[in-house]
Amino acid sequence: MTSAEKFIAFKKILPEHVQLVAVSKTKAEDEILEVYQAGQRLFGENKAQELVPKYEALPKDIEWHMIGHLQTNKVKYIAPFVGMIHSVDSLKLMKTINKEAGKNERVIPCLLQFHIAEEETKYGFSLEEAHDILGSEAFRNLKNIKIRGVMGMATFTDNKEKVHREFRHLIQIFDQLKKEYFAEDPKFKEVSMGMSDDYLIAIEEGSSIIRVGSAIFGSRN
Ligand SMILES: *Cc1c(COP(=O)(O)O)cnc(C)c1O
Repeated sequence: MTSAEKFIAFKKILPEHVQLVAVSKTKAEDEILEVYQAGQRLFGENKAQELVPKYEALPKDIEWHMIGHLQTNKVKYIAPFVGMIHSVDSLKLMKTINKEAGKNERVIPCLLQFHIAEEETKYGFSLEEAHDILGSEAFRNLKNIKIRGVMGMATFTDNKEKVHREFRHLIQIFDQLKKEYFAEDPKFKEVSMGMSDDYLIAIEEGSSIIRVGSAIFGSRN
């Protein structure tokens, strides 16, 4: 099957309330365009230096999401156009996004990334860290970034029960933050979880955004 055919088959099984970010990292522009022509408008990349040239080359009605770890010195390159940043994992990064969004007269939607997996290498906040930031004056002063929800990655494992537990944990984090800080904000509603190998579990546990690469585009180059 081509990427476009895989995308169309994928869309058919996707519940309407779940948004699909088609993760096009390492994929060439013509491959992305195939999936675009099949109807997809939301794409995700994990590197600023790959995202910018793709944004420039591809149709302007594509919404681009940054899903990978973002260094503060790269924020300025994507701030003019990025639709959402899923991988916000420090107050320093929030401040930088806020500053660059302001320069572009924009408000950039963001998700707080949480560390829910066992693996040491995955980025993300703990719940305590998030409480410290969301309760702070410094956070309340950031007018050009809006927190829309949370993001997380489960452990890469065949143990489905463990993946269920980790996603359930992210939902609990979302519920707590919603109650404490965003009860009056209807736009704080996103839980970005689920990739090619675990999106079914993620949807079952209440994901609102899945980020799927290889199940659509095939294995990475
Ligand atoms: C690459 C990537 C994905 C997609 O992974 P697949 O297993 O190819 O679906 C999702 N989220 C993040 C943060 C990624 O870096």
